[in-house]
Amino acid sequence: MSENKPQPDSDLQSSPEPLDRIAAYLQTLLIKHENPELPPEVETVEGLQAVAHILTTLKEVLFYFSIGDFDRQFKAPGSTCAYLKTLQSNIRHLAWQCRRVAEGDLSQRVDFMGELSTAFNLMIQSLAHSRADIEKKQRELTKLTLDLKNEVKKKEQMETALRASEEMYRQRALRDPLTGLYNRSYFFESAAREMENLKRQKDGAACVMMIDIDFFKNFNDTHGHLVGDQAIKMVSGSIERILRRSDIFSRYGGEEFAIFLAGTDLEKGRTTAERIRLTVASQPNPARDDPKPITISIGVCGVTGESLNPLTPGHKILMEALAAADAALYTAKAKGRNLVWVADSPFSGPI
Ligand code: GH3
Ligand code: MG
Ligand code: MG
Repeated sequence: MSENKPQPDSDLQSSPEPLDRIAAYLQTLLIKHENPELPPEVETVEGLQAVAHILTTLKEVLFYFSIGDFDRQFKAPGSTCAYLKTLQSNIRHLAWQCRRVAEGDLSQRVDFMGELSTAFNLMIQSLAHSRADIEKKQRELTKLTLDLKNEVKKKEQMETALRASEEMYRQRALRDPLTGLYNRSYFFESAAREMENLKRQKDGAACVMMIDIDFFKNFNDTHGHLVGDQAIKMVSGSIERILRRSDIFSRYGGEEFAIFLAGTDLEKGRTTAERIRLTVASQPNPARDDPKPITISIGVCGVTGESLNPLTPGHKILMEALAAADAALYTAKAKGRNLVWVADSPFSGPI
């Protein structure tokens, strides 16, 4: 052993014979984690240095394999190293295939790793089945969701149609079919409510009007019922165009109309009635061969909030106002028709 070489292990050093030292070196190399120092004999025996290099390399490679590191480059001659290289490249390829599977590629198959290949291929088959199952269930779910959405949409459409038809029937119940005006019962209900409000407004006022077409029996007898209907529509249309949205205009009976004008004092009510009368009389007669205009008579009754007894119910006040307007209408008829007549107030004021 030369002086500048590292000192061999004490075990090896203590071996008496070179062959024993080589055997002890190889044993230590294969058994212990650290690599022992090369005994000086290794350099002298032909081929022994190469064996030591191969064994050292194999040990190192196997160590890295054991901790899962398959990336190390190594170089050593001979079939043993070649086998390890094949194992390394197979495992790296398998790792690559596993990553492809993780990305969703279930076409991967392994046929170079014996039992591991069988397990891998079985795992992929099972994954493919599960995926096909999930896709089928997803399709079923999508279809069910779509069916459900369609069902909900149909229900919503039916509900909308139902609400529309309910509203239509409600409107029909409130309105007169010939003129489209509110009917008598709607008039009573809403005008009574307005009277109830008026009781609470001391400086408030309203007017009630009763309107009746003049000599209408005669008109019907002369021109027929259908032309009579046209005349009723002409009168209602002409009046409707004059009134405000807040006024309650109704067909009260055959050729009679009632109007409630909220927030209107008697003077304003009278001028509105006069305007209505003149407008109707200026319309062309639906009976073309009749040169006389269709005329109406109007009875007006004014009501002030301060004149109302707060204890009198709204519908009673309305009935009294209507009766007074009707009496004024009767006077207008008696005085020759095509006339507006204003009623004396039937309200004496609160006690
Ligand atoms: P007055 O000037 O006094 O009001 O006379 P009038 O002839 O108008 O009075 P009357 O109440 O005697 O006649 C009302 C007529 O209205 C009787 C009826 O034939 C007619 N009438 C009522 N409702 C309708 C209807 O819906 N259509 C038609 N065409 N005529 C109707
Ligand atoms: Mg009448
Ligand atoms: Mg009449």
